[in-house]
Amino acid sequence: CGIFAYLNYDVNRERRYILELLFNGLRRLEYRGYDSAGISIDADAFSGVGNGNGHVTCQSPLVFRQEGNIENLVKSVYQEVSATDLNLEESFSVHAGIAHTRWATHGEPSPRNSHPQSSGAGNDFLVVHNGVITNYEVLKQSLLRHGFTFESETDTEVIPKLAKFVFDEANEGGDQTVTFSEVVLEVMRHLEGAYALIFKSKHYPNELIACKRGSPLLLGVKEFAEEQDNGTSYNGMKFISKNGHPKELFLSSDPHALVEHTKKVLVIEDGEVVHIKDGGVTILKFNHGKGKDGKSLSRPAS
Ligand code: GLU
Repeated sequence: CGIFAYLNYDVNRERRYILELLFNGLRRLEYRGYDSAGISIDADAFSGVGNGNGHVTCQSPLVFRQEGNIENLVKSVYQEVSATDLNLEESFSVHAGIAHTRWATHGEPSPRNSHPQSSGAGNDFLVVHNGVITNYEVLKQSLLRHGFTFESETDTEVIPKLAKFVFDEANEGGDQTVTFSEVVLEVMRHLEGAYALIFKSKHYPNELIACKRGSPLLLGVKEFAEEQDNGTSYNGMKFISKNGHPKELFLSSDPHALVEHTKKVLVIEDGEVVHIKDGGVTILKFNHGKGKDGKSLSRPAS
């Protein structure tokens, strides 16, 4: 019933700080009601260097999901952290974390039905979702025919699996040339219903994509270069860091989770795709297959 994401760019943050920031985001969403919660964080700091073929390599993102209240999730995350020797002091100069509070529409409240939902082993693609995918049965049948197996009863699970399908198809030749936003735009072409989505991927470390149709989504930006903050527009919706200012970016379904961090909040409109990459934000327009998808937008920020 609530989504939240935090990406720090060019500013060192320890794992503990990132976890607490995500938990606090979820606590701000609590008042809306929910039955379970979950988060995903990075396993390792990604250097940003590909392996030479254009492929990026990094460990699978970590996923924690729990039924019940946020403190349940918090407790289980710290238990797992100590059991696996995950270093809470490990520092990330770039890190993309996502979080979710769930109000179940398809599938009972349980850890496996909680979000992030995954594309499968390895967590190539992870998705947090608010809303309902009305054509999920059809998509599920077709993904089953393509060899995917399903772990949850949610409508949401088809989304990360579809992303993996699109990604694998596009990379059949070997080289990873398809961009994260191209993958997500293709996924959107297949989705019916209402959604606000945030995608995280092992193949696109340090990037996040969010998009929406019918469910609320907001972007918050903190500490970006002053000369680009003229109060009326965000430089054609590209917040490219010219002078290397530290930056923190937030996504949420609810302003409550953003106000403590920043006043620079942009309301994302239906059919818009927010791509956070290299400390910059690009907003693309999805046209539901009419005309050219992925046109870069320029519009005043609120
Ligand atoms: N329909 C999704 C589910 O049942 C998302 C529910 C929500 O908005 O929290 O998992």
